[in-house]
Amino acid sequence: MSSTITYSPAYTLVPTYECFNRCHYCNFREEPGTRPGLSLTQAEQILNSLKDRGVIEILILSGEVHPHSPQRPAWFQRIDQLCQLALSMGFLPHTNAGLLLYDEMAQLKQVNVSMGLMLEQLTPKLLETVHRHAPSKVPQLRLQQLEWAGELQIPFTTGLLLGIGENESDWRETLEAIAGVHQRWGHIQEVILQPHSPGSQQMSPGEAFNLHQLPEVVAIARSLLANEISLQIPPNLVTHPDILMKCITAGARDLGGISPHDEVNPDYPHPDVQALAKILQARGWQLQKRLPVYPQYIPGLPAKLKRAIENLEVASSSTSLV
Ligand code: SF4
Repeated sequence: MSSTITYSPAYTLVPTYECFNRCHYCNFREEPGTRPGLSLTQAEQILNSLKDRGVIEILILSGEVHPHSPQRPAWFQRIDQLCQLALSMGFLPHTNAGLLLYDEMAQLKQVNVSMGLMLEQLTPKLLETVHRHAPSKVPQLRLQQLEWAGELQIPFTTGLLLGIGENESDWRETLEAIAGVHQRWGHIQEVILQPHSPGSQQMSPGEAFNLHQLPEVVAIARSLLANEISLQIPPNLVTHPDILMKCITAGARDLGGISPHDEVNPDYPHPDVQALAKILQARGWQLQKRLPVYPQYIPGLPAKLKRAIENLEVASSSTSLV
């Protein structure tokens, strides 16, 4: 058994916090007009400030614009431009911008080493509760995105949001759907098991997922998903070392993108990487950097992206410790 736990040194760029959905548990969304969108000049300044700070992944995380909105083309163009800018400055983009059209996904494939979308939960009952005002959270539309990503051979990250009104059989149903889509296309590189952790900005209070149940969810995921799919646990939401270690014992092997600020859970700062490495080391595990694309998918990437990876020093020293 491998004794390595991976993480991705990351920074998140947010083109816009505006979103036409209103998920009850969201701590990210802002009302239109609250603040202007991210300009390319601002993005370039941020990216410049990240040079020599060890950041590899630029996560482009965005609120969504309705597919029929007149603002959709400009929104999409900005995402594409941000990816191009990040690539040109030596970073590796990974976009998660909610539901995309097939052609949008195909275009972003050219400038993203991997992409992501949380499936969250497949059960339609959540459309009556936390997703009542979230048209993008129709489960079949999200599953369709995973299929399209497979068809386009985009290395893909998805996951479950836990504790939003589902039950254990819903976890299984969602995990089985992910297993099925991966069996068809072989493109799911990792699955995030994200415990709902209430924040100060969400619309409805909601209860936190019982973290003591997380190792059980990890074990179920490990039993249902193909071995090559890595299981990810966010270390800022699972801060108790005992629970973290139980998740690792149950099969979790990745801690996701660690950045100065978690945009989705702004009330939960990421832990210090060195401190995390010490906690793991004391228990026999080595913390190791990884790229935002898993090694087996690199040969299938567009040539421009493969070159970007080759140019990264980390690609030649991927065994380096934190
Ligand atoms: S969780 Fe995502 S889709 Fe839902 S309101 Fe927030 S930003 Fe929009």
